[in-house]
Amino acid sequence: MIFLKSVLIFGFSFVCLCRAEALTILIDPGHGGDEFGAVAMSQEKNPQPIKEKDISLAISKRIYDILREKNYSVFLTRSMDRTVTLPERAAIAEKTKADLFISVHINSSPEGGAVGFETYYLDNHDDVAMKKVEKTENIQSSGDEVVVQQILVDLVVQQTVNTSKPLAESIHSQLKSTVGKKYGIKSRGIKPGLFFVLALSKRPGVLLEVGFISTYKERVRMMNPKFQDDYARAVVIGIENYIKGQKKRPVRIIKTKK
Ligand SMILES: [Zn+2]
Repeated sequence: MIFLKSVLIFGFSFVCLCRAEALTILIDPGHGGDEFGAVAMSQEKNPQPIKEKDISLAISKRIYDILREKNYSVFLTRSMDRTVTLPERAAIAEKTKADLFISVHINSSPEGGAVGFETYYLDNHDDVAMKKVEKTENIQSSGDEVVVQQILVDLVVQQTVNTSKPLAESIHSQLKSTVGKKYGIKSRGIKPGLFFVLALSKRPGVLLEVGFISTYKERVRMMNPKFQDDYARAVVIGIENYIKGQKKRPVRIIKTKK
């Protein structure tokens, strides 16, 4: 119940950021350490596990490097293979005073043959297919914690949806016109999702599902450094286009009172 207390005691205040050029961006590689995320077996004589946590880290690091090269203030929630809980990721967002939160994940489907990339932003919905993705990505949450987090989700949705959705649209449209075209990858669209890592970060943020680890062609592609670079560059241009758009209207983020 620690989260509920902090919500009730500290409440929320809203800070107007009119400094688009100096935005701090936090890149969040999904899973890590003991938590593998989705896993598929390689098609070799001695099959080896291919893990979501490794691919999400490689792509996140590319995004991080490209943003660094462009002199953005940028951080990673993990830079190596280690376990980081969802609340710890949120604490890093607070500590780094991140303005934008980009979480990178790899999809999986038990049906097999699923293809494409999709971009999520935090919002309520009733879609059954999206609930399956949420279940996987919210795996660390359970019991009381979920109830408390749901309260937080509602509060944060109200305050971030107007910024998270344009960010998702900007990144997704860039992915569509670059890697989507170049590699002939299907766009599965921009979708609302109740991801606690986005809610807990309390920032405008998106959760990227790069492709399906369960589909051979997609996992081979996602492990290719050239694809990782192309994907990361598209994400960075999407972020930059979003920032340019925000210069006309101030970014609003939620900050807890100190
Ligand atoms: Zn994931």
